[in-house]
Amino acid sequence: MKKPAFIVEIQIRTGFPLPHNIRIDIVRSMSGPGIELMQNMACWALRQWRSRHSGSSFRWHLDYPIQKNLLYDDLRGISGWISGPTPIAAVVLRSDTVVDSQVKLKFRPDVQNSQRSWFRYSTGFESSRPIRDWLAPSGRARITLEIRWTSGKTDSVTLDLANAYELKIQKRERFQSVLVCPECHGPLIATDGGWNCPTCRLSYSATPYSINFLTPDMAREFNIIPTSNVSYWGYDSHIDQIIRNNPDKLYLDCGAGLRSTYHDNVINFEIVDYYSTDVLGVNEKLPFADNSLDGVFSVAVLEHVQDPFRCAGEILRVLKPGGVLFCAVPFLQPVHGFPHHYYNMTRQGLLNLWKDRVRIEQVLVPMALHPIHGLQWMLRLYAEGLPAQQREDFKRMRIQDLLDVKIIEEWESGRHAFIHALPESAQVDIASGNVIIATKK
Ligand SMILES: [Zn+2]
Repeated sequence: MKKPAFIVEIQIRTGFPLPHNIRIDIVRSMSGPGIELMQNMACWALRQWRSRHSGSSFRWHLDYPIQKNLLYDDLRGISGWISGPTPIAAVVLRSDTVVDSQVKLKFRPDVQNSQRSWFRYSTGFESSRPIRDWLAPSGRARITLEIRWTSGKTDSVTLDLANAYELKIQKRERFQSVLVCPECHGPLIATDGGWNCPTCRLSYSATPYSINFLTPDMAREFNIIPTSNVSYWGYDSHIDQIIRNNPDKLYLDCGAGLRSTYHDNVINFEIVDYYSTDVLGVNEKLPFADNSLDGVFSVAVLEHVQDPFRCAGEILRVLKPGGVLFCAVPFLQPVHGFPHHYYNMTRQGLLNLWKDRVRIEQVLVPMALHPIHGLQWMLRLYAEGLPAQQREDFKRMRIQDLLDVKIIEEWESGRHAFIHALPESAQVDIASGNVIIATKK
């Protein structure tokens, strides 16, 4: 056997319960950075692993608690769902001191639907035991979710839970030294109810759960309006790796949304006070000191700000020299809210935000931003925007029909109902472009 040129060890974390290490021996010698090849190899390895383990693996999800490790003082019990290759006979929750063997199983048609391409059986579960029953006096709990399949096999998942109060206070101790006044970047003075800036004579309020740097003036200035929209995402695998491999570093998740997992080393910065939010404020005026953070993540945020250049400048200001920047912005994606959507970016546009002020390590299209997502999203909105009859006709068209250039040439003939029947209101979010006509005031 040929000796490997080098060995890449890849840790794969998916929605599956346990991390798995896959070793790939690359026998071919590589020229250039070889990054793309490595990525392809990683994808291949993941597919192999999935197919090899499809007989025994399963998926699980917690509906409550909303964050997989963050608990608010609440009387509700643990609930979620499990999908697998065989039906589930029972689910048991246990810690060192508490056991709940009366966990209710319930039919979840929504999960059955969304998971059926991967798993034949899906079941919801719900424990009536309030979460606070599980917590030790320390405010923490390690709970095992035991899944008993009808095949006789048992799988288990470990949940590390902690009271939000304790986790949030602990984290704040880690990052409060880097907080500054977002207006003047001057030092803050702690008060009973939060922080004061002696220079600007502004006060910023705080609860044990979050610090509020989003003053009413700031909300007005940057057109931040209250929203009930929830932006809920897990971490990109690149970010997940950075967070987990560097527990001693401090990262800023700039526009975090509602995160499913709460980390000690990541400040969740947001305009909305979600359960996982640590600091409230705006990207245009970050309340962090110059060169104070080991990394900044900005994921699907800059398309929603009025001034992406200014936000990019702020991100760079708070980043330590050598600190890592991870920025993802949509290019060909339909308009989506939360609550404003201003600027999509090409790859060149994204690079232009920081130009030569950063050293580019990698530029890539991750799987989550593969063209198929944009393509499907656009086609779906196109179909949904059509009246019922034209929608059905449109869905029956072949890609080859859509690619036919004559469709556009015959635009005015009115022969192609799916073009003319799409109302203006449905065109806006997926238009190829917009025009304004205006006069100078
Ligand atoms: Zn100030």
